[in-house]
Amino acid sequence: LNVFGHIKLAPPDPILGTAEAFKKDTHADKVNLGVGAYRTDEAKPYIFKAVKEAEKRILADPTLNKEYLPMRGLDSFNSLARELLLGKGCAAIAENRVATIQCISGTGSLRVGAEFLKVNVNPPAVYVSSPTWGNHLTIFKKAGCIVREYPYWKPETRGIDIEGMLNTLSSAPIGAVILLHVCAHNPTGVDPTPQQWDQIQNVITQKRLIPYFDSAYQGFASGDLERDAYVVRKFVNEGSQCLVSQSFAKNMGLYGERIGALHIICRNKVTAEHVLSQAEIVVRQMYSNPPLHGALIASVILADPALTQSWKVELKAISERIIQMRVRLLEELIKLKVPGDWTHITSQIGMFSYTGLTSQQCENMINKWHCYMLKNGRISMSGINTKNVAYVARAIKHSVD
Ligand code: PMP
Repeated sequence: LNVFGHIKLAPPDPILGTAEAFKKDTHADKVNLGVGAYRTDEAKPYIFKAVKEAEKRILADPTLNKEYLPMRGLDSFNSLARELLLGKGCAAIAENRVATIQCISGTGSLRVGAEFLKVNVNPPAVYVSSPTWGNHLTIFKKAGCIVREYPYWKPETRGIDIEGMLNTLSSAPIGAVILLHVCAHNPTGVDPTPQQWDQIQNVITQKRLIPYFDSAYQGFASGDLERDAYVVRKFVNEGSQCLVSQSFAKNMGLYGERIGALHIICRNKVTAEHVLSQAEIVVRQMYSNPPLHGALIASVILADPALTQSWKVELKAISERIIQMRVRLLEELIKLKVPGDWTHITSQIGMFSYTGLTSQQCENMINKWHCYMLKNGRISMSGINTKNVAYVARAIKHSVD
């Protein structure tokens, strides 16, 4: 008897599958435009100097050991991560009404947040943007939530469908959870303006909806940690009770360390204590407690002002390389007289650009040009560098023509 014989081969993950296909390709000019991690101008992974320094200090510290962390994680990490997100002097922090739990990067934080909501709040629905990072839909579904979409992307303008979004949110049932990308929206690279955030906040407040912020790119989008946290701070400082999933994968380059946090901003201190205790139960039943090493790295960096400063300088340089590649790609497209308006390449922000290429054009990019990207037209700007930008532009021209 073949006990597991009935099990079918799973379809490849659209994002991780692209990485595999890239690896297998032996063509000399191949380009990885699917990569969801920072690459240098030499197309190499990058370790922050601040991270290396923190690891040196961790190894040299005789007081550290490899004991289990508590279910909520490393306390020093939790409070430093919270302050980085919400800002120094945040009233909600001073009033001890933010429940924070260290999580297994952004994905783990979303999974714990989703389970916490299902068990303790049972919202009528969770609304995610259309489109969104694919895992959002499956994470909330897996936790038993009903997932719906709100319009976000308007192909005609290659911008936000703000009317569609506000209309859908206005008709959402009371208590529905609204998932919002804090900055560098994935996959579109298009964020609401401050005026649009005002409109979104008004609907959320009036309709008594629960905002859930996904913060995967703080500091990575603009190079400025304060600026990229604008919308979370605005909501929290104006009294919002909400959830935030925070990842350190991109902004500290700690992808494989799986370090992040879930913050639940509550009405008062007692509620926050109750909330934290329930979130800890979720963690206990899923994986008991989070990993230590990444939490130590992040807290060593954030606890030392000089190290924090050096990290910020590196972060700025990284985001600037990405912004520079947007400018260069647009220049090349214009030089080649590629039909259409491509200015969205430079107006979009963050790691990704939603090119507007059709799935057929994307297939041409992959099959003829060895430029690996998602079939929805998303390219990672971090896969582009001074050596391949002209080649990528030629590939786009050939695919569009
Ligand atoms: N949210 C968004 C919008 C993302 O783009 C990502 C990473 N691609 C994540 C969450 C989670 O990333 P991680 O689990 O590596 O922190």
